[in-house]
Parts: sequence; structure tokens; C-alpha cells
Amino acid sequence: MFSYRHAFHAGNHADVLKHVVLIHSMQYLQEKDAAVMFVDTHAGAGIYSLRDGYAAISQECQGGIDRLWASPEFDEPDFKSYREAISHFNPKGALDAYPGSPFIMSHLLRPQDRLRLFELHPSDTGILETNIASLGKRSQIDIRQQDGFVFLKSLLPPPSRRGLILMDPSYELKSDYRAVEASVREALDRFATGTYLIWYPVLQRSESNQLVKRLRALSKEFERPWLRAELRIAHLVGERRLQASGVWVINPVWTLAPFLERTLPILQRVLGEDAGATFDLETSSPA
Ligand code: SAM
Repeated sequence: MFSYRHAFHAGNHADVLKHVVLIHSMQYLQEKDAAVMFVDTHAGAGIYSLRDGYAAISQECQGGIDRLWASPEFDEPDFKSYREAISHFNPKGALDAYPGSPFIMSHLLRPQDRLRLFELHPSDTGILETNIASLGKRSQIDIRQQDGFVFLKSLLPPPSRRGLILMDPSYELKSDYRAVEASVREALDRFATGTYLIWYPVLQRSESNQLVKRLRALSKEFERPWLRAELRIAHLVGERRLQASGVWVINPVWTLAPFLERTLPILQRVLGEDAGATFDLETSSPA
């Protein structure tokens, strides 16, 4: 356990998909003045250098944010907030750093909102603490070095009864797949109306296929609307690197499906590496 460091993967195609969905959902919830609680059950280190350290070794951002950043299609209005968030943390103009979900959420946080972060890795928790302290919003942000799967329920329901939970495990352990299901079940028991954004890798492994089936069954059991969006950037048989990922969203904001209908084809075009690049969008209540 604990060999996973998100710095290796920062800004890759999976981060792009997850963060585009996250930002759109957050901003829709913030259209009303009422406070929202945002939770990141697997926070990571907060912000990552793309040009040195782990990210420079893996170069995964080259297949993700580097391509999008360089594309004229990143000027589309649908990407405005994403582009602005990244630009905010790259004040010199060049793309040197990539904000992870805690930084993106902090950036969008209004004074009435709260952000709760879980991170279990001892080193990344320390880095996250230091990084978050630099943002000047510490009074609104709580960082816990705890198991996000287990302790999520302790935060629910949020006092404002409005909340978005990002669950973004590394799936380093096979047991993570089952832990997602168990944690989301406990959370729905306490807070059925929350928006749950669950990221997952699309792999030729039974655990990954089973997870989607289980999340579908769980959403049905709790009679909650859901959305599934997957993005594949390549289809090379035998390739070990991650070529596709998805998000399962429970109680998606109603604008998310039309937003993804517009943006997924762009992401496929810009990030796609071969003819196998594709996307898939499915909702519980087709328009
Ligand atoms: N959400 C981050 C983002 O989008 O920038 C990336 C998170 S990364 C995929 C997953 C993180 O979860 C890693 O930093 C890992 O150390 C941490 N982690 C692993 N198991 C955990 C657990 N049970 N509870 C909390 N954090 C965990």
C-alpha cells in the first residue's frame, strides 16, 4: 500500500475528464446562495509541478492537459472556468503546474462554502497541508489524515443539506472497488440527495467492470438519478498505461448531461491518439 503518488498522473486525460465534470457540477450548485459542503475523499497533494519531479518522469500530462491547453478548442466557453482555474495557478502564463481537485475546489469556494479533504498517505497529507495553507482559505478547509471511505459518513448530512462528494481513489488496492460501493451506500443512507462524483479506471479487469454494475444497481436501489461518462483516448491492445476512464455521478446536476454532450466530442478530438478514441455518455433519464 501507499506506492501510489498522484504526482505521476497529474494532468493526464483522466484528470481532465474528472475535473471538467467537477467544475461544472460545483458551479451549478453555487448558482444558489445557500452554502455547499464539498468533500474530496481522496485528495492527493493539491497541486503538482508538471515540469519536474514525478510528473516530469511520467509525462502523462502530455496526453492530457498539455494537449488541451495548446488547442484552440480550449477557448470554448464550456472550458472557461477550467482554463481560468489552471491559469490562476500558472501566473507566468506557461503551463508549469497542475491544480488537483483540492486546489480547484478551493479556488471556486465561496465564503459560505466548506471544503473537507481526506488524504491517507502521510507524505501527501503533509504536502497538502502546506499547499492548502498557501491559499489563505484555511478557515473554510478541513484536512484529515483518515480513510475517506470510512469517515465520509461522519460528515453527512452536511448542515446546509447541500453537498458534492468527489470520490477519487487510486484503486491501488483491489479492495478499493468494494470500498467505493460500501462507502457510497453508507453515504446515501445519510444523505440521499447529495451529488456523488465517483471516478473509475476503465480496464479489462473484472473489478472495474463490476464496479459500474454495482454503482448502477446502487443508484437504482436508492432510486437516484445517475450519469455515466467515459472517455477513451486510445485503444492499443496489451498497453499497460491507462487508456480510458469514467465518472459515475449520482444526483447529477441537470445541466451536466447537455454539457458533456458538447464537451466529450471535443475531448475525444483533442485528446484522442488513435482511431480507437471514443466517448460514452449514458443517463438514467434520457432526454
Ligand atoms: N482527487 C485528486 C485529484 O483529482 O487531484 C487525486 C487523488 S489520487 C487519484 C488518490 C489519493 O488517495 C492518493 O493521494 C492516495 O494517497 C489517497 N488514498 C488512498 N487510499 C485512501 C483512503 N482510503 N482514504 C483517503 N485517501 C486515500
